[in-house]
Amino acid sequence: MSSHENLLDDNLNAGIKEEFFSDKVQGQPKQLYLLFFTEMWERFSFYGMRALLILFMVSQLKYADGKANLIYGGYNALVYLMPLLGGFLADRILGYRRAIILGGILMAIGHLVLAIPTENSFFVGMAFLISGNGFFKPNISTMVGKLYRPGDPRRDGGFSIFYMGINIGAAFGGLICGYIGQTINWHYGFGLAGIFMILGLIVFLLGQKSLGEIGIKPEVSVSKGNNNLLAQIGVVGLSLALVPLFIFLLHNYTLMGSIMIPFCIIATIGMIVLAFLQDAKTRDKMLTAIILIVFSAFFWAFYEQGGGSLNLFAARNVNMLGMSSAAINNFINPFYIILLGFPMAALWMYLSKIKKEPSTPLKFSISFLLLGIGFYIFVVGGMMAKNTGMVSLFYFAAGYFLITVGELCISPIGLSMTTKLSPSKFGGFMMGYWFLASAMGQFLAGWIGSLMALPTEGGQQTISSVESLSIYSGVFQKITLISLVFFVILALLSPQLKKWMHDVK
Ligand code: GLU
Ligand code: ASP
Repeated sequence: MSSHENLLDDNLNAGIKEEFFSDKVQGQPKQLYLLFFTEMWERFSFYGMRALLILFMVSQLKYADGKANLIYGGYNALVYLMPLLGGFLADRILGYRRAIILGGILMAIGHLVLAIPTENSFFVGMAFLISGNGFFKPNISTMVGKLYRPGDPRRDGGFSIFYMGINIGAAFGGLICGYIGQTINWHYGFGLAGIFMILGLIVFLLGQKSLGEIGIKPEVSVSKGNNNLLAQIGVVGLSLALVPLFIFLLHNYTLMGSIMIPFCIIATIGMIVLAFLQDAKTRDKMLTAIILIVFSAFFWAFYEQGGGSLNLFAARNVNMLGMSSAAINNFINPFYIILLGFPMAALWMYLSKIKKEPSTPLKFSISFLLLGIGFYIFVVGGMMAKNTGMVSLFYFAAGYFLITVGELCISPIGLSMTTKLSPSKFGGFMMGYWFLASAMGQFLAGWIGSLMALPTEGGQQTISSVESLSIYSGVFQKITLISLVFFVILALLSPQLKKWMHDVK
């Protein structure tokens, strides 16, 4: 049996009837839009909250820059670490659908707790968000992959549309919650995020019927009947039991390094071993996915300065023309994606038609090039502002533009690649591994952000803008350099990786 048939068979094993796919030759499956809107509202709340996170810690909780960056990185690392568990438990016990509902409920609780104005509730809220996101995020992405048969050419396009939903949510979440939080009341901003998460959940609950049998049963059932019900209750219990653990880790954020680094190394070795246990073709594909996913961690480490150090940079060293820095900084990147998502997807289609589409590994490589140039534009903006210390919004926006084009060469492509290159029975798990790389990236992002810590007193920087600009520019320059090195390495590796992808396009 070919691997193609194998995968198809896996889909059928998961209880998805052949008829589900048959009437959707033209256009995208309609279920994509259900997942699109659910994810849109979830991301509205997630990024709405993220827009406020670091600024709130520095200006309200009066944390030093270094501490705020490390908590920010630790929170995001846990946010992206949890999908490994959430993906695994959905594959085996909950099924994707229940996992999404559980995750959505936990996240809504998290946002609403953040609306309570105490320092303790801040940590409790974040802990609920971490647990909830772990069940929600990987499984909704895997469900998108399930809408397509193996080899369906609409898959990449489907992920591009889905990514658009993510970013429509992120843009308006960042803009509205960022503005309300920073200029009116921080907790109103957090609370608003909660309301939109509930909206996302309602959309999913009302529309889920259209998904047919997708995501109802776990892909690989480990227990039957009552035992499975017990196991499901156990998972809900676990999702709650993890909350105090996350609170502890957020308070003891310096422990994160000693958790993340060994964990990522062990997981990567585990994935490689798993790949070697498969037949030769599947092994090659899995290895390609693993290598690319490892690189993606470094992309996120630089990219994720966006919600952390760049949020502070925007507030301190960019001339915002009187607008809310939180709103603009968090709106600008997803806004570009809304503009560019479809043209980029069309560009890939066109290039594929004329047989010039870059391979997935080459797209990853290009993403580092663009990221590096994007950060260099911030440096140039800094050079132009040597005397005042205030970078023009033009350079800030231009740098973000390139970073965003880079993101579009790696993020939706990587999501799609992850679902294409992994055998169905490890679908959720592999998606969890993709997010684990993001987790490592987020952790590193917090650490890189802490290298840009400014001396502060009561939340106010104690050095001049000219001095702070030179601290930011110094680190941006290093980010540029390292990104270019990754660009070259990946470009050199890409022909071999392309071969290992075999028939997968
Ligand atoms: N910004 C995208 C999202 O929230 C991708 C993030 C990631 O994979 O790290 O879905
Ligand atoms: N571009 C990010 C992602 O696609 C969203 C953001 O950083 O605001 O979801």
